[in-house]
Amino acid sequence: MKRITIIGGGITGLTAAYYLNKKIQEQGLNYQLQLLEASKHLGGKIDTERREGYTIERGPDSFLIRKQSAERLAYDVGIGDKLVKNGTGKSYILVGDDLHPMPQGSFMGIPTQVRPFLSSSLFSMSGKLRAGIDFIKPKGEPAEDQSLGKFFRRRLGDEVVENLIEPLLSGIYAGDMDDLSLMATFPNFYHLEQKYGSLIKGLQKTMPAPSPVAAKKRSMFYSIEGGLQTLVEALAESLGDIVSTQTAVESISKMGNGYQIRLQDGTEFLSDSVLITTPYPVMKQMLRSYDFVTELDDIRATSVSNVALAFDQSAVKNDIDGTGFVVSRNSNYRITACTWTHKKWPETAAPEGKALLRCYLGRPGDQEIVDLSDEALEEIVLHDLNKIMKIEGNPLFSVVSRWKNAMPQYQIGHKQLIEKLERGLSDQLPGVFTAGSSYRGIGIPDCIDQGGNSC
Ligand code: FAD
Repeated sequence: MKRITIIGGGITGLTAAYYLNKKIQEQGLNYQLQLLEASKHLGGKIDTERREGYTIERGPDSFLIRKQSAERLAYDVGIGDKLVKNGTGKSYILVGDDLHPMPQGSFMGIPTQVRPFLSSSLFSMSGKLRAGIDFIKPKGEPAEDQSLGKFFRRRLGDEVVENLIEPLLSGIYAGDMDDLSLMATFPNFYHLEQKYGSLIKGLQKTMPAPSPVAAKKRSMFYSIEGGLQTLVEALAESLGDIVSTQTAVESISKMGNGYQIRLQDGTEFLSDSVLITTPYPVMKQMLRSYDFVTELDDIRATSVSNVALAFDQSAVKNDIDGTGFVVSRNSNYRITACTWTHKKWPETAAPEGKALLRCYLGRPGDQEIVDLSDEALEEIVLHDLNKIMKIEGNPLFSVVSRWKNAMPQYQIGHKQLIEKLERGLSDQLPGVFTAGSSYRGIGIPDCIDQGGNSC
């Protein structure tokens, strides 16, 4: 019998275990599968707190509908009927002290419709004219990689980047656009530029035309009743005793045709094949006896935090019509975004008559904020919120979550780094594989794709 070990019980590891187990069962394969998770908690970054009728996400709160693997997984594990689409209220960008509605028809901040862009209060006339240069500016020289910042600034100018694209992308990567790799994050934008000579033209040609029926905004995200942890629980239930929690792997070394896995409690056992789904630094640590691994560049990761605050709805005095906002760096705020969770997820986030606001903190240059006390973080958040919306009194309760070094930064050359790692593994440690948010995509569907493709 062959033994397969999956290390890490985040969404990547759980997905890999689920599809592999399914295959083993369906095809009657002679494999023994196990998944080892260091902590007590399964789900990794997915971590839902259910409290007094509220569903509070400490980590991710949703996933993109457009990328279909997460929806498919939910149906495969039998919870497809629990998928919930987000409320489609307005969303805003905070620039200075003003909330500006997100221009209609923009995709990741890139305008695809001219009229809403021209009438947007987010940009000056010269900023709008500069963005229009995208239509006539020749495409860039073919390049192996470049920074997101350089690429978007060249095509659309500084103002569109700083007031729209950067705040949106920071929400996803918590990173500095001038460091992040275009090819590891949005290679499709590079290909659109190369093919159509213009980003706006490329998107107009390739995005589905807005149908008259779709004048109403469409939901872009799914959550799940009971929060994303519901997906983790369904996966865990189907895997049963394949999963061991509180089982941290210390090292992996080649032995004969297989691998010796040493746990942190000193236990050792052999495995024919290993899938590592932990963050990159943990993978490097586990494979530290191999020079080709230790010599690889590090992948930096940003620390972030979020604070969820519950109120009676009546305490939020000048309530804003929308589901939340992201903050441009041209604003004197420490929060980087805020979701009016009870409006984004009206069916699931908060009990009737209550408001649940979730504010995000931490970005390159302001990561120490994560080390402040709960009280200090709550005070910063309330101070910032009160500049935009009047809130009366103290929250009913707050939940502070800290994520240290949690958001991997795909820097320029990231794809080449991962290809080098994979070549090294296949040459020197055949049967050892890596997958997860440090490697080929950070979003939940990307992690599910990687977990699924590893089977
Ligand atoms: P992880 O979740 O990090 O799982 C790795 C697992 O490995 C962990 O459980 C860890 O305990 C375990 N492990 C570590 N060391 C060992 C060891 N030595 N032995 C055994 N196990 C070990 N994505 C979205 O799509 N939508 C969002 O709204 C969204 N919001 C986010 C908000 C926050 C605050 C954060 C931090 C991330 C967010 N993301 C979002 C990104 C997404 O949540 C993550 O990229 C994804 O969940 C990572 O899954 P993973 O399985 O690759 O890694």
